Amino acid sequence: DSTPLLQRQTQRESNARSYPRRIPLELKRAQGVYVEDSRGQVYIDCLAGAGTLALGHNHPVVVEAIQRTLASGIPLHTLDLSTPVKDAFVQTLFDLLPSEFAKDARIQFCGPTGADAVEAALKLSRTATGRHSVLAFHGAYHGMTLGTLSISGNLGPKSALGGLLSGVQFLPYPHEYRCPFGLSGEQSIDANLHYIRHLLSDPESGVTQPAAMILETVQGEGGVIPAPDRWLQGLRAITGEHGIPLILDEIQCGIGRTGDLFAFERSSITPDVITLSKAIGGGLPLSVVVYRGELDQWQPGAHAGTFRGNQLAMAAGDVTLRFIQREGITEHVRGVGARLQGVLQGLQAEFDWVGDVRGRGLMLGMEIVDPSRNDAAGRPVADGERARKLQRACLERGLIVELGGRHGATVRFLPPLIISEAEIEHVGQILYQAAQSVQG
Ligand code: PMP
Repeated sequence: DSTPLLQRQTQRESNARSYPRRIPLELKRAQGVYVEDSRGQVYIDCLAGAGTLALGHNHPVVVEAIQRTLASGIPLHTLDLSTPVKDAFVQTLFDLLPSEFAKDARIQFCGPTGADAVEAALKLSRTATGRHSVLAFHGAYHGMTLGTLSISGNLGPKSALGGLLSGVQFLPYPHEYRCPFGLSGEQSIDANLHYIRHLLSDPESGVTQPAAMILETVQGEGGVIPAPDRWLQGLRAITGEHGIPLILDEIQCGIGRTGDLFAFERSSITPDVITLSKAIGGGLPLSVVVYRGELDQWQPGAHAGTFRGNQLAMAAGDVTLRFIQREGITEHVRGVGARLQGVLQGLQAEFDWVGDVRGRGLMLGMEIVDPSRNDAAGRPVADGERARKLQRACLERGLIVELGGRHGATVRFLPPLIISEAEIEHVGQILYQAAQSVQG
């Protein structure tokens, strides 16, 4: 077939395909933070498998772990049977979880997408509490299955589907730049916590006792919005008082991404349930839910699935976790993350259409706005069109970034955690030239 590969795939792939539309690359090779297309063009990858590739593309320790595991002759498909590879992975993960949590925690292998871990967390909480409703948050993203869409904030992907899970109550996520209460700083956090307390305590609120509260410690797809520490501590207190399991979805923000191994560690809180995927498999498909032992009231087989024992993913995940720990990657992430945040703040100072810069570590976002139009709260409105132009201008200059948030107006940065300072400088140069090109 002489049809160019990109065109052929576009014809054959579903209309639901997403990334290839705005990143129409034919990829051939990758190493570290770089990917190369079939024309030999090289790009810095600040999408990195949607935050999956903590150690970048084809990191030697990951490649070596995969090759070693393959060469060992271990069965590659084991359902969820025991193997030494699985044992080592679980041991490494439990050693890295906060010890107070790990000492009586349980793990369920899921299969193997992030959405499946979230489904498992919801089923687990419903089973343990005997209740069924769920508290979720504005702007949340938890996956694309029917259950996870039910607790995701964005109406777009669910509007065509009709009935989803019943009993989902959406609560406001604290969003400094676009506070749903029109407040700022500490007042905004106080109002938010006050509102949630009220909903759960006032018999007239119409809210039934929920099976769980679920949130992302740092919202990703929703536009890179970190939960303030004091708010998380408040939620921990409220859920504790009401006996509501607190599920933290760390699928995107976990495993070193924010400069802490788990993003919740910064707030000194311990959740009841943690969902993990993406980087936990070192770039290969793997997801798990880890939870307090007392919630383990599942019947045998209550959450089954064929692909829960991928030995290569466990081996890759194991070495990834150990590398992050051994090489002080969280420290590195804080340093280079601050540098990238500085680059984005430089753009904000220069271009009036950069409305907000936010995030933590190497999970950063820059919201593009239209400075000539304000919303009811007096903030400039989000400008998805200019964000798309900027994304394209970056791609043309060799930089892959993703968009997210309301109207797709937030440019998102999820580079490999091993990105160097020199590579951050390079990202900054490309961004600056791209920004100049979309000015005016
Ligand atoms: N939760 C969060 C926080 C995510 O960012 C994602 C994926 N972007 C998911 C869940 C779903 O993961 P998956 O795409 O592997 O189903």
